Amino acid sequence: MKGQEDVLLVVDVQNDFMPDGALAVPRGDEIVPIANRLATGFEHVVLTQDWHPRDHVSFAANHDGRRPFETIALAYGEQVLWPVHCVQGTPGAAFHAQLDAAHARLVIRKGYRRAIDSYSAFVEADRRTPTGLAGYLREVGVKRVWCCGLATDYCVAWSALDARAAGFEVVLIEDACRAIDLDGSLERALRQLSEAGVGRMNAEQAIALP
Ligand SMILES: [Zn+2]
Repeated sequence: MKGQEDVLLVVDVQNDFMPDGALAVPRGDEIVPIANRLATGFEHVVLTQDWHPRDHVSFAANHDGRRPFETIALAYGEQVLWPVHCVQGTPGAAFHAQLDAAHARLVIRKGYRRAIDSYSAFVEADRRTPTGLAGYLREVGVKRVWCCGLATDYCVAWSALDARAAGFEVVLIEDACRAIDLDGSLERALRQLSEAGVGRMNAEQAIALP
């Protein structure tokens, strides 16, 4: 059982990211039992929850003539336009019904500001607005962040990179993630992760490591 220096960060295991959801991640449902098994090996679990207002800037439907998966330029940079997903309080924004991490201590909701998206659990997409997660983890003595969830190449990768940038040791648990893989985004993300010094393991290795 990993103790106070470790945290399992479970990213966006929500209905809208499941294969029948509004922003489906292929085979996203396969990670649920793996995340559940991982969670039994960690005293400290933190969940993230994508949590948008209906008029959110990341939704293609809120931009005239735009379609999902196009990109637009916003004040903070390029933004992928997504189908409407994870609207606050809707069933699509709820955690997958089989996600079993009742001992999770904290749920970080992200993307709740209309004008800023947030893939990362640590810093919003303007790259300036902190969520507070880094400060919380430091304050409770966490040194190592273990990342799993959806999707590998967006919210998981951005969270892992920001965890590294905040000074934590970071491991990506590869078989407990699935990717969207839009225009080579998975390969790009994996390269950035290795350049940043993010480790990669599978769930069994992660559980076995003291
Ligand atoms: Zn979102």
